[in-house]
Amino acid sequence: MTDKELFEELSYNRKNVYESITDEEKTKMFSLCDEYRVFLDEGKTERECVEKTVAMAKQNGFAALEEKNSLKPGDKVYYVNRNKNIFLAVIGEEDIETGFNLVGAHIDSPRLDLKQNPLYESNSMALLKTHYYGGIKKYQWTTIPLSLHGVIFTRDGEKLTINIGEKADDPVFCITDLLPHLAQSQMSKKMTEGIEGESLNILIGGIPVGEDVKEKVKFGILKLLNDRYGITEKDFISAEIEAVPAYRAKNIGFDESFVGAYGQDDRVCAFTTVKAIFDIDKPKKTAIALLVDKEEIGSAGNTGMLSASFEMTVAELIEKIKGGCSVTQLNRVISNSSCMSSDVSAAVDPNYESVFEKNNATYAGYGMSLLKYTGARGKYDSSDANAEFVYRIGKIMDEHGVIWQTGELGKVDQGGGGTIAQYVANLNMDVIDCGVPVLSMHSPFEVTAKSDIYMAYKSYVTFYEHMY
Ligand code: MN
Ligand code: MN
Repeated sequence: MTDKELFEELSYNRKNVYESITDEEKTKMFSLCDEYRVFLDEGKTERECVEKTVAMAKQNGFAALEEKNSLKPGDKVYYVNRNKNIFLAVIGEEDIETGFNLVGAHIDSPRLDLKQNPLYESNSMALLKTHYYGGIKKYQWTTIPLSLHGVIFTRDGEKLTINIGEKADDPVFCITDLLPHLAQSQMSKKMTEGIEGESLNILIGGIPVGEDVKEKVKFGILKLLNDRYGITEKDFISAEIEAVPAYRAKNIGFDESFVGAYGQDDRVCAFTTVKAIFDIDKPKKTAIALLVDKEEIGSAGNTGMLSASFEMTVAELIEKIKGGCSVTQLNRVISNSSCMSSDVSAAVDPNYESVFEKNNATYAGYGMSLLKYTGARGKYDSSDANAEFVYRIGKIMDEHGVIWQTGELGKVDQGGGGTIAQYVANLNMDVIDCGVPVLSMHSPFEVTAKSDIYMAYKSYVTFYEHMY
């Protein structure tokens, strides 16, 4: 062996996925990503993602947990919590008390929520006030086509599902921005202050209607909404309506190697997680996929990872498998379980290399990212996985041809961020952060590499099949 070969063997080197896979896998990768783009287009909110996942689950032989009185190995069930959070399980051959294998991702994404009293008129234009959700760079959300998604209850209690701006002949909405000619003082502000939160108002109409009415354009819109949907202004108070980018997911590049779309954090992991569990038939250990809401605002709330919903559903699962479930049994099951907390990592951006530390960064095209910890500053808000667990996960990935890479979220003290991993760890479960590197994270058009999407999917299948 030459010194050069020995050096190669002794060093840690990342591998580009394309240099390590067969043509057959490459074909599978591209078709998986075609399906992924449809998932993104049909699931632009947490509610839509749950609905889409339920439809896919039913096609893959899953039944509602409530409909089952008992469960046996090979049974496939799902449980939906308040239309925004879904739990899927395939019952394993082994006693559930040896633990389950969980992959968890989140299906909420940064966006603009309508305020509860959003409608107003200004300068003969009707607008909707918003409150942004999650960590956004506000300037990125102006001057792009927006669609409106959500639910609104009419006075008579009818629940209307809203989805306007996605179909080819639908109108869209937008937030205007100042012309450069008059932006001299705006352009000299700090980027965090250039666009203010209270300036994220969405243009929705401009035709004045009626006689002796103070706000004729607002009246026109209220009349139209009432004629078309039977709603009044008061109905917005209980509504949940989200403004999201109106365009569809696209392939990026001459070689179509990337996917560009809104909401890939973290629907890229949600999609690959559910695709993986659909491929599992009779696993040794019970396989669970969990898609949660509210991660982008701290995981609180009854549909977020901090909700007791997860443990309650596990208890119900145990009860239906074993005919009962004591607190000790539930604790034992959860303590013996393993979790891949699947969320996006920051891919090194060629335009902004300086914020990354190149030996400990994730790169687009170099496979699934495996992060021992995330967090900020001195590892705050991180669960910091145990060495034993990191080793075991890395080993099974290597044994089954998964291309993966390690990294952390940028240089020390450059910033940082947390995931649901810390809350899963608090349940006394082994958990590691993993997922897909993404460019332009939290923007209205995030970018991922198809090769990493494929490897994330492959890693979850491997985890479900071989982690025991
Ligand atoms: Mn995320
Ligand atoms: Mn995020």
